[in-house]
Amino acid sequence: MERIYIGMGSNLADPAEQLRSAVEALAHLPQTELVGVSGFYQSDSLLPGQPRYTNAVAALDSSLAPLDLLDALQAIENGQGRERLERWGPRTLDLDIVLFGDRLIDEPRLKVPHYHLQERAFVLYPLAELAPVDLRLADGRTLTALLAACPFVGLERHPPI
Ligand code: ATP
Ligand code: MG
Ligand code: MG
Repeated sequence: MERIYIGMGSNLADPAEQLRSAVEALAHLPQTELVGVSGFYQSDSLLPGQPRYTNAVAALDSSLAPLDLLDALQAIENGQGRERLERWGPRTLDLDIVLFGDRLIDEPRLKVPHYHLQERAFVLYPLAELAPVDLRLADGRTLTALLAACPFVGLERHPPI
């Protein structure tokens, strides 16, 4: 079993409900236990003209291989109506593998740690709710240092649900 963190985002079709459905689907993955879910946050889209996003992070313990997990995540995205019309377009559901144990993965379909982690407050702050305070990434960076370099700006804690 390895500890895996999944970044979740949605800005279409009742985003909070999309995230709740995604959590339910993650909990039913084979060889996997859902360990925790962060609070929900809202953030402005990185691209102008899109609805605001709802984001959260889920922690899993799984013995799935990384590419098998990616396949399963993409199946969940597709099952919740994800359409890939334009890069970074609005979406019902995005599930990204942020961290996978202490692995460094650099394959055409999968880069871990997620390559935009350091500039995304909407991933780092929910991750920090779940991860140990002294979390060190496989590439040596600490979560503490990443948080210090990425201010809590443009994020809003979603009202309790
Ligand atoms: P971003 O990567 O900037 O968050 P995105 O999540 O919108 O963008 P997608 O359209 O969901 O991008 O995925 C594009 C491709 O990214 C996927 O087909 C997948 O193969 C690849 N990918 C690479 N690394 C990862 C990762 N760590 N988690 C999920 N997908 C990844
Ligand atoms: Mg993404
Ligand atoms: Mg994605």
